[in-house]
Amino acid sequence: MRRLRNVKIVATLGPASNDYTMIRALFEAGADVFRLNMSHGTHDDIRARHVIIRQVEQDTGRPIAILADLQGPKLRVGSFANPAGEELVEGAAFRMDLDATPGDISRVQLPHPEIFAALEPGSSLLVNDGKIRLRVETCGKDFANCTVTVGGAISNRKGVNVPDVLLPLAALSDKDRKDLEFACELGVDWLALSFVQRPEDVIEARDLAKGRAAILSKIEKPAAVKAYDAILAVSDGIMVARGDLGVELPVYSVPPIQKRLVRGARAAAKPVIVATQMLESMIESPMPTRAEVSDVATAIYEGADAIMLSAESAAGRYPIEAVATMNNVAISVESDPTYRQVIESSRTVNRSTVADAIVAAAREIAEAADIKAICCFSQSGTTVSLVARERPRVPILALTPLMGTARRMCLTWGAHCVITEEQDRFKGAVISAVRAARDYGFAEEKDQIVLTAGVPFNVQGTTNILRVAPCDERLIYKADPE
Ligand code: PGA
Ligand code: MN
Repeated sequence: MRRLRNVKIVATLGPASNDYTMIRALFEAGADVFRLNMSHGTHDDIRARHVIIRQVEQDTGRPIAILADLQGPKLRVGSFANPAGEELVEGAAFRMDLDATPGDISRVQLPHPEIFAALEPGSSLLVNDGKIRLRVETCGKDFANCTVTVGGAISNRKGVNVPDVLLPLAALSDKDRKDLEFACELGVDWLALSFVQRPEDVIEARDLAKGRAAILSKIEKPAAVKAYDAILAVSDGIMVARGDLGVELPVYSVPPIQKRLVRGARAAAKPVIVATQMLESMIESPMPTRAEVSDVATAIYEGADAIMLSAESAAGRYPIEAVATMNNVAISVESDPTYRQVIESSRTVNRSTVADAIVAAAREIAEAADIKAICCFSQSGTTVSLVARERPRVPILALTPLMGTARRMCLTWGAHCVITEEQDRFKGAVISAVRAARDYGFAEEKDQIVLTAGVPFNVQGTTNILRVAPCDERLIYKADPE
């Protein structure tokens, strides 16, 4: 089984997608990565979905990545005396404080003392995905008296965003720490960190994960946009989390930020996901809007590694149609000659190591000489990421003996991951590459492949071989040294 596109599809699982039949259908429709949202569902729910995904993986024989998304320090108001909440009107006064008494039209609890400590007169508080805006007039260590600048409905446990203050919040709440340990023990491949503000937040999570999962930083705070380069440097991957980003910053600033984050991650050879509201109308409708199709297409033209479905696949009425739509948009965009021009003009020249130079040469040879695949032996996946950064026209086969590496690479642009036996001889490696290329329909006996590897085998970071090999095994036996 082989995908006919390079960009990857991440599908969030939820109530609309929690049984074997649905998860398998999503995989077959094109989902490469499944996202488990730790903000919703119990550990038992998460475990049940994890088991099903691994079953689908076993039954289809294709590695699948699982991404556990930690809730992070999400702020919420307390509850209201009226269970329906209240309607705040522009110009009115509204108070947030630490008092747990149920709220009313004049006040509500915000159970986060550290926020009051960081607020200043003039700061904004955004409630309910930014629908309500409050301006802080006066504040102290346990209250903030605000004016409603944009009115709207407020009710129990609605989210609060504080965009213009670097919050003195721990990157990981107690819940996040428990969820992180649970997810690592379960064996997820990626951990996504919400509301990252500084590189230290990422390092903290990495220390807890201890190599059991790769770390993906969700960029959804203005502070994270500012510190992007430093955050990227300590992350294994990035999510352009447009939902909260578009609340914390003016919504029209999101597209340029998206472009910058995608380019930065690609230049660093780290996978980047464009997320949120990509096909929002498909929660209720079997057909996307034109604008949504354009949004998905734009992310692909920009060279994102992956595009993501949230509520569309987790809680919508048409999860399979949503994945199929992304798949079809991807096939359409990637066959457009303009797509190649855009991707190639945004390629960064980065030739600081032997591995950089080898992957660049692999692409040039493959594109110049009608070669059918770039086959890449990798322990950690680093070389595969470097090949993917080149965004070659020729398919990438990522060969590794490590299941964990194969699964992680499911998020990487173009990587078709295949598990091979441990290699110890170069000839054996060439033969398994050729067999994988033929088995998965990338090449035929008469064709050639390009292969990159590191000798000695099974040592990380030793990419030092570039070989053009025939796909006819008899010729390999004749030509190749041990
Ligand atoms: P969320 O993150 O869905 O967990 O909020 C993505 C986003 O904010 O865009
Ligand atoms: Mn978010």
